[in-house]
Amino acid sequence: MNSLFSCQIASAGFFAVIFFADTVKKHLPNRRTIFFQLFLCFMMLSSVFATAADLAGEYGEPGFILDMIQGIFLFLQMITCLMLHCYILSVDYQLHFRLSIDSVAGLRAVGGCLYLVVASVLLLSSPWTHLCFYGDGGGGIVRTPVFWGLNLILLGMFVYDIGVVWLRCLKYSRRKRMMCLFLIIDFFAMLVAELFQMPGISFFKVATLFFAYMFYLSLQSPDFFVDNATGTFNRNGFFEIFQERLAYGKETSCLIIRVRNYQAMNQIYGGEVLRKVQRRIANALVGECGEKGVFHIGSSTFAIISKSREGTLALYDKLKEVLPQNWVLKNQVVNQEYSFYEITYPLDGEDFEELVQRIHYARSDHESTHKSGELVRLRSDEMEKSDEKREVASLVEEAIMDDSIELHFQPIFSFAKGKITSLEVLARLKDRNRKYINPEFFIHVAEENHTIIQLGEQIFRKACIFASYNHIFDYGIEDININLSPAQCRYEHLTEDFVRIADQYGIPMEKMHLEITESEFTDKDAVSRTLARLKETGAKVALDDFGTGNSTLSNILELPVDFVKIDKSLVWSFAEGKNQFLNELMPMIKAEGKKIIAEGIESADHIDIIKKLQGDYLQGYYYSRPLPEKEFLRFLLKFNKKVKEGEEKVVMDQKKAFG
Ligand code: C2E
Ligand code: CA
Ligand code: CA
Repeated sequence: MNSLFSCQIASAGFFAVIFFADTVKKHLPNRRTIFFQLFLCFMMLSSVFATAADLAGEYGEPGFILDMIQGIFLFLQMITCLMLHCYILSVDYQLHFRLSIDSVAGLRAVGGCLYLVVASVLLLSSPWTHLCFYGDGGGGIVRTPVFWGLNLILLGMFVYDIGVVWLRCLKYSRRKRMMCLFLIIDFFAMLVAELFQMPGISFFKVATLFFAYMFYLSLQSPDFFVDNATGTFNRNGFFEIFQERLAYGKETSCLIIRVRNYQAMNQIYGGEVLRKVQRRIANALVGECGEKGVFHIGSSTFAIISKSREGTLALYDKLKEVLPQNWVLKNQVVNQEYSFYEITYPLDGEDFEELVQRIHYARSDHESTHKSGELVRLRSDEMEKSDEKREVASLVEEAIMDDSIELHFQPIFSFAKGKITSLEVLARLKDRNRKYINPEFFIHVAEENHTIIQLGEQIFRKACIFASYNHIFDYGIEDININLSPAQCRYEHLTEDFVRIADQYGIPMEKMHLEITESEFTDKDAVSRTLARLKETGAKVALDDFGTGNSTLSNILELPVDFVKIDKSLVWSFAEGKNQFLNELMPMIKAEGKKIIAEGIESADHIDIIKKLQGDYLQGYYYSRPLPEKEFLRFLLKFNKKVKEGEEKVVMDQKKAFG
């Protein structure tokens, strides 16, 4: 066996090892990976046939069999070149399959296909037609001008395309460019050696494969795309596939799934436990969508690529049901919630960078911005809205940290006493431009983020400080109304905390009236439990915004409340004669022994109406808007002093009259 021959066998073995070592890895299903694997495969096959051709030439009968093997070998070699060619084109997303004659890319694809067909026919038929080569009778092969022509065309295509990619490849690192340069030089050397049947061809082949493989590894090592924690593809893989599909103009839709409250879970249970959670979710997703489409793009975030928006929507419907709904973590059952996002190219945007930005946004979206389980489309208007929420959420967090929530106070007038006997505490928060944010909005955001617990406690404490510091009960005030969000009722130690704080500032709980809204009773049990506990401490409870909710009157009347606050909208519409509700409702509420506070009193008319219906208290702009501390105190002094002076005057007059 001569040395050339052992080189052939060694190189075939080398190709086989590389090919199989690469095949066992998990590969991204994108064009450049597929073409590199095809290149490896054909490289191995062609070297097997090269060895076989040498074997046949050396030991066998020169003749038809040798011609056949030669034909197959040359054919495989041409395909190998084409695969490498396609791989290099696909590195820069230049490998188009759309055959057309009105674009350069389309023309190139047409030319490539034509070449493939013609060259295959010519090479594979040569054992019969002798168009490309024929045996010289002594185990050698003579190559014809047709063969040279075919190879020259191949070389031309290669030079052109590699030139284009090389120019674009300038954006890659120096190392990668050098790799690409070596590959090109070596490939030339291999082709030249092959064409002129020079010795050392095996060496060039091995070197070509070596450089190609290094180039491939430095650009897209399979490990770079795989997530070790879950075994699915990672964020790099996701963006690689996404970018390729966009580069080729293919409709692409993504469903992004995020595990909610992941940060909190991470703090409580630790990373190791959560890796199990990630794996279980990944398995559930792979079970539904197959290995290829699932990407783990952030510790709490997964993405699935579909070919159309319909596909994504259908997947969403399915996954809502299939994803695990609870976990047992450290012997505790944890309820699991998810956020879903969808984005489709080119429907929601055509620019890769912009779409990527939105996907990143979904990865870091604030919990409160969207409801659990809801599918959010990542469009710009949607994001502006949630950006605002996110901003407010962070302002609330800052207010909690800096103890900086402001309180305003609105007086409540008592018919029985003819003066201000109560006040409602209303929270105020300013935005970065020092403008007040709508309290309903920031309270809502705080409720969704569960920061309402801390915020509510701060409000309660500041109300106590206000009352105690200003000796508010010496000025005719009998009680303080504080709003309580239903979300606060889920907090077990709420009552204890309130009692402790009130005690600290020497305020009896009896003076505390807590207002709760009926329309948002999310967790009825928690609300009734908290109300009952609060009442045990002596605090009073008022049902807020009566008339806006949707529960029935009998339901409401069953609640253990001491006061009912008629919502302003009901007062106003009644005053305008739009309905007669209050005629019916107020007597029923009174019959239950509950006192009535009417909100939204803006005119003397409103006062008359409530007086006739035997309401007990009035609150509204007619008396005063909610005021900051100092202004409220001034208002209170003035208002109740006038009343007192009036009373004193009456007493004096009576005294005078009766001598
Ligand atoms: P609410 O509890 O119904 O508070 C009464 C709201 O009606 C206040 O709005 C008050 O300014 C307004 N109002 C009172 N009288 C009149 C009137 O005659 N005419 C008109 N047009 N409006 C009147 P505000 O301060 O904007 O608060 C809105 C809501 O935000 C409150 O509605 C309450 O649900 C919530 N909120 C405010 N502060 C707190 C708080 O400290 N905790 C909780 N949980 N919620 C709060
Ligand atoms: Ca209220
Ligand atoms: Ca109200």
